[in-house]
Amino acid sequence: MLKESIDQYYLDRQKDREQHHFYITDAGKCGRALFFKFKNAPRGDMKANILRLFDHGDHIHQLIMKPLLSIRDIHVVASEVNIPPQEIISGRADAILSDGKNMYVLDIKSMNSMIFDKLAEAKPENIDQIQLYLHYFKIPKGILLYVNKNSLELKEFVYNYDKKRVLALLNNLNEIKKKIDSDIIPGRLTDYPGNWQCRYCQFKDVCSKVDGGEVKWADFKKKVESSGK
Ligand code: SF4
Repeated sequence: MLKESIDQYYLDRQKDREQHHFYITDAGKCGRALFFKFKNAPRGDMKANILRLFDHGDHIHQLIMKPLLSIRDIHVVASEVNIPPQEIISGRADAILSDGKNMYVLDIKSMNSMIFDKLAEAKPENIDQIQLYLHYFKIPKGILLYVNKNSLELKEFVYNYDKKRVLALLNNLNEIKKKIDSDIIPGRLTDYPGNWQCRYCQFKDVCSKVDGGEVKWADFKKKVESSGK
């Protein structure tokens, strides 16, 4: 009885989450999936245990921040810092640190042993995120700190601000936003369905019903309605 109630709590929180602007975690993601997110298209259910794991990730972040707050040579300038408000994207960095010489944006990522052990370099989508933080905070260096959820081992990667990468990311998000505003479903990823994003995509069912290229949202909805009659 307790298990069902706890699962339901997480599932209810997840329901009908409409999106009106991009989050930092959307950077580099499939434009079509983002379109569906903004339009609140039907999505596959996430399992309650996966939603619980997100909460677990928050606790791991707190665990990492605790020693940082007491280390003499490191100063936590701010924690859980929102990026300055602007039109396109919102996000919250885990912390801004200083070692007395440089400022760093810190982004903490937790993962299971299987993924952690194989991690020789930072994931490209995480580098995209830290680059956007560097851009909006105007801080030249960032640290991606990975935590193994099972063993609590750590791996860290340091990056310098890469303006070219950030401009490409923002340009891409602006293009997707234009399609969202004009109700045009973007094409599928070119390596659909083999891309890792497709494997975990909550919209793969609806995506499979739309042609591969760009499609008008209104035409697709009409097609679905007529096939349901
Ligand atoms: S299944 Fe792949 S191509 Fe389709 S929306 Fe999802 S991520 Fe994009």
